[in-house]
Amino acid sequence: MMAAYQLMKDHEVILLERNNSLGKKLLVTGNGRCNITNNKPTKELIKRIHHGKFLFSALSKFHPQAIISFFNENGVPLKEEDNQRMFPESDKAVDILKVFEEELNKITKFNTKVIDLLIENDEIKGVITETGTILADRVIMATGGVSYGALGSDGLGHEILQKHGVEITDLYPVETSLISREPLDLQGLTLKNKKVMVKDNHQKVVYSTTGDVLFTHFGLSGPAIMLCSEHVHHLLKVQESVSLECALISHYTQEAFFTQIVSQPAKKLTNVLSFYLPKRMVSFVLNLQGIDENALVRELSHKRVRQLIEALFHFKVEIHEVMDIKKAIVTGGGVSLDEVNPQNFASKRFKNLFMIGELLDLHGEMGGYNLTLALVSGYVCAREVSASQLTN
Ligand SMILES: Cc1cc2nc3c(=O)[nH]c(=O)nc-3n(C[C@H](O)[C@H](O)[C@H](O)COP(=O)(O)OP(=O)(O)OC[C@H]3O[C@@H](n4cnc5c(N)ncnc54)[C@H](O)[C@@H]3O)c2cc1C
Repeated sequence: MMAAYQLMKDHEVILLERNNSLGKKLLVTGNGRCNITNNKPTKELIKRIHHGKFLFSALSKFHPQAIISFFNENGVPLKEEDNQRMFPESDKAVDILKVFEEELNKITKFNTKVIDLLIENDEIKGVITETGTILADRVIMATGGVSYGALGSDGLGHEILQKHGVEITDLYPVETSLISREPLDLQGLTLKNKKVMVKDNHQKVVYSTTGDVLFTHFGLSGPAIMLCSEHVHHLLKVQESVSLECALISHYTQEAFFTQIVSQPAKKLTNVLSFYLPKRMVSFVLNLQGIDENALVRELSHKRVRQLIEALFHFKVEIHEVMDIKKAIVTGGGVSLDEVNPQNFASKRFKNLFMIGELLDLHGEMGGYNLTLALVSGYVCAREVSASQLTN
């Protein structure tokens, strides 16, 4: 949408959309609030995008501050929230969509599924849709990833490119829930703001983050878990299961927490711990440790209390699977970046073909980075296509 919006100012553009309306995925972003970008400086942004260095040149031409100005100038001011995440002031994704929609509806062919590229002598001549061929001097592919297919992007774009020899790297789920076959029995419970670590078989911390953790009927979900998921996915390729460790108690050293507990000898252990954790979690850990829920603190040996504290500070859940890519928020992998010129997103293989957005082997963490990379690649590609066409 960004590419078409920029190009239509000076060129004849047709936007082909298989759905009956634009931006179906955009509308569900950020729970309908749309975390459109992140106000971090370019250097920081790049660190949070997988293969982010590829975007170095593009980000020097169009960056989050330019995105903020773009929406501001188009009547949709943005506001900054925690972690420099930017949202429309109205909290409505539909307002972001409206910026594009009004103009783009004039040039969009809806319900038009592209099923192939028209290529002659390694040069793009147009596209083939279900309803016929459309000739074009330039084709920009922005068909997205393979997640949430019902919203339009189901991997057909990758298939078309692969058929013509374009390298597509392995696709994998990013930002998704984790499946555990352990009997957790904590469904519906949320732990707020906990440190979570992904550890490999050698107990090396591969990734760590802090955020909310949600227990579900299949395992774990919530923001902290979503951030861990791609690292778990990679580990599961080489090991049977992955140990996820959660610090249930924070702001205390183990020693300070020990003192805190043993200084209340006449109290029930459950009541002491319930001050720091939801009661269900307390019961679960006590059961796991084989400690009577009604036990008084003084009834436990110091050794036993220390064992319990160890379990609370290093609560482990064994993960056996990552949720299916179709249910992931973002797709990892895509068009190999070796196929693409980072200056203008042109295909190195086919003349006049360009590829942008989630279709590429680029993805960001949660925090507005994915829409940022879609907008940045779209804007810069359009600008470069326009410049080359005007001088042709
Ligand atoms: C639930 C959810 C919440 C998210 N929240 C955020 C967030 O808050 N912030 C953030 O940065 N990112 C978020 N993301 C990720 C973000 O939405 C995507 O990374 C981004 O939309 C990718 O943009 P894109 O233009 O590359 O692809 P898409 O947005 O997927 O657009 C691709 C378009 O191409 C069309 N299309 C596909 N194939 C064809 C074909 N063969 N013919 C014709 N048309 C076709 C599709 O219908 C679609 O309209 C979220 C994703 C999900 C699923």
